[in-house]
Amino acid sequence: MRFVEVAIDVPLRGNFTWRLPASLADTPPLRGYRVMVPWSSAFRTGVVLRDTTEPPPDMETERVRDVLAVLDSHRFVPEPQLALAEWASRYYLAPVGECVRLAVPPGSMPDADAVVRRVVPSEVASSPWILALPSDVGVPLRSIVGSGGVRLADVMQGVFQQQVVLEQENARGQMREQTLERIRLLDADTGAQLGAKQQLVIEHLRQWGESTWDELREACDCSRATLQALQKRGLVSVAEERVWRDPFSGSTVLRRQHDPALTSEQATALKQILVTLQEVTKKPVLLHGVTGSGKTEVYLRAVREATAAGLQSLILLPEIALTPQFVGVFRAVLGDEIAVQHSGLTPGQRHDQWQRIRAGEVPLVIGARSALFAPLDKLGLIIVDEEHDPSFKQDTGVHYHARDLAVVLGQTTNAAVVLGSATPSLESVGNVVRGRYTIGFMHRRVANRLLPDVQLIDMRHYPPDPEDPASHLVSPILQQAVVDNASQGQQSILFLNRRGYSPTMECRACEQPLACPHCDVSTTYHQRGNMARCHYCGFAVRVPRQCPTCGSEELTPKGAGTEQLENVLEQAFSGLRVARLDADTSRGKGLSRILDTFRRGDADILVGTQMVTKGHDFPGVTLVGVMQADQSLKFPDFRSGERTWQLLTQVAGRAGRAERPGRVMIQTWNPDHFVLQCVLKGDYDTWKSQELTFRKRMGYPPFGSMVLLRVHAPEWPAAMEVAEFVSARVRHDGARALRLVGPADAPVTRIRGRFRIHLLVRGTERGEVHAAARLMRLALDELEANMRKRDVRADIDVDPLNML
Ligand code: ADP
Ligand code: ZN
Ligand code: ZN
Repeated sequence: MRFVEVAIDVPLRGNFTWRLPASLADTPPLRGYRVMVPWSSAFRTGVVLRDTTEPPPDMETERVRDVLAVLDSHRFVPEPQLALAEWASRYYLAPVGECVRLAVPPGSMPDADAVVRRVVPSEVASSPWILALPSDVGVPLRSIVGSGGVRLADVMQGVFQQQVVLEQENARGQMREQTLERIRLLDADTGAQLGAKQQLVIEHLRQWGESTWDELREACDCSRATLQALQKRGLVSVAEERVWRDPFSGSTVLRRQHDPALTSEQATALKQILVTLQEVTKKPVLLHGVTGSGKTEVYLRAVREATAAGLQSLILLPEIALTPQFVGVFRAVLGDEIAVQHSGLTPGQRHDQWQRIRAGEVPLVIGARSALFAPLDKLGLIIVDEEHDPSFKQDTGVHYHARDLAVVLGQTTNAAVVLGSATPSLESVGNVVRGRYTIGFMHRRVANRLLPDVQLIDMRHYPPDPEDPASHLVSPILQQAVVDNASQGQQSILFLNRRGYSPTMECRACEQPLACPHCDVSTTYHQRGNMARCHYCGFAVRVPRQCPTCGSEELTPKGAGTEQLENVLEQAFSGLRVARLDADTSRGKGLSRILDTFRRGDADILVGTQMVTKGHDFPGVTLVGVMQADQSLKFPDFRSGERTWQLLTQVAGRAGRAERPGRVMIQTWNPDHFVLQCVLKGDYDTWKSQELTFRKRMGYPPFGSMVLLRVHAPEWPAAMEVAEFVSARVRHDGARALRLVGPADAPVTRIRGRFRIHLLVRGTERGEVHAAARLMRLALDELEANMRKRDVRADIDVDPLNML
């Protein structure tokens, strides 16, 4: 007898096993196939993890239910990605079903809400029930199965014969596969007499060989009946062909004619990667190349070599929508055979891309975090660009870090892994120190361009000037620099890492901030619409006239965000064009509009949050200004120094990337701060060694690891009780050397009406910390019923980045 262990996307841990009924007993080994299984009174689809003859140990064989159907005629999830999902499940202590979901396209796991749609003309339908389906409209699966003796197996038969498809109801429409009718001439020597229209069609096809229906109708002004008549007489064939929805559609890119000559540093870096590609046992390469050193060109050449060797490549970028030019460069050189995955795609596009990659048609996938699970089964090269970027860590669901999983994927597939950055994370630097990674440097910009000249502006010398309404934000010297820059036809970027008009509204009478009713934070004031918005839960209200605490009418904005900066600049420099890039302006088409406007030179100043620090290559930018550089240093997080170093170095790197040199002006109230001094001198080595010394003394990563338990509930005591139970368990059963911080209130004590408690466990031995994480998991599992009753939720974050 055969049993299958199946990953089902439910938030439950444990293994779920079904039996293969006799009718399915002679299927091939099913690991990686989708199967439909009964689930309580309905059914669900999952991916088979294990195919075995052993009955599940904890269950009597008679109680095991039967698999309803096997959905695939060949393997659905390739082995590398399935193994990676299993690895992630073990390491991040997440249900395996949630991890496997990362490796399948949207809408591919039909459940009881699935619909069946006929995809062949009725003439071709091989069974009455298929014939009975309306064309092009999905019919709920549950209304087909059981009616008129149709079994699920019959439906699956129809799926395998490619007569019907199963789709998930909610994704309908968007998910529909796009097809194109291709009409070909079979026999030009008609002999028979044809109508005028028919003659025209034959002529057209004779001339063009084949045509789509749209072209044909356009060219010959013929009707469907004309075509059918010709088809019936065997003169033409009509075939439906699948077309891939093209996320590039509308934008064409010129093919690059000549490769630039590599700088010697680029050539050395490339060689190092190509050597790794050949090696039997590979180590990841950390490519530390300063901003503008031409890392993209190195990636490009490496991908080209991998492709030539018949291997597939994967490039992960932190926020791909922010750097369209990156993809542009690859298209210009490699053509359109590239799959791109990012959050801007519709579910239909993502589904198509997945299928195309799965079909092995794509030599290169470029994508954000989630592209890590793209179904590539001939992987040779994995590149993680801007590997230091925190957005590689998933904040919700499975808390995986795409860079770390990329290294795992490289190990299991024996692909070369390249981690690139101008500001590498200390985790990766630590791995170099330990000999796990090799490192390559690119110290100089291409074409002998200089790194920008950095200057600190001590804001203590520039108190706000009542005559100058911009002065509280932008010092007179930076203002002058912006004006001078624009007068020479050059562009500036001004970086302020806060969106909205003001981070708080405060009452001048009672000094209380206007707080979010659901969260323990103050709301951000947005001048647009005169709204107070909570950036944690999305709560928004019109700003009340009166202070909710004391009733006085003196609510005033306090502090500044990008909306205010834009405003102030527009007033101060009426002749200059200001664009703003932040989460508020970049929704939908806004993002590409702003980036295009600035790139074309239709704006003089780009104001923005950390979005402007990402890998943009704007040749016109020669000045970068930073407002409130101290802000990120004050963050209650041991990584705040590293984060500040990275943000400042990255934003500075946007200046002077073309012929003209750039300069950077950093406004601060703490010009003597160690991190700022290192940025000023461009002294990476001093910064790094001091930061590593501090980390080592404290046992922080990369010299130790940590796991963070977050517990939240509508009632504080309920959350605290759970956290304390878990804490006691770890103290009792965990390694002696572990250090526990908490349980205590989280930095933001309440979000969405739920009180939040944190327990941080850290230690120098990764294995001991991970064992503690598993103890946490077991303790939480024990409390499951109790937690459900009191609406307590908990999540375990292995290697947390976000300590909030
Ligand atoms: P990085 O990612 O290291 O900051 P990029 O890859 O964006 O740098 O390269 C910076 C600029 O230098 C780009 O405009 C790129 O086209 C150009 N470039 C790269 N390599 C060369 C080269 N060998 N010769 C001339 N220009 C180059
Ligand atoms: Zn008040
Ligand atoms: Zn809120």
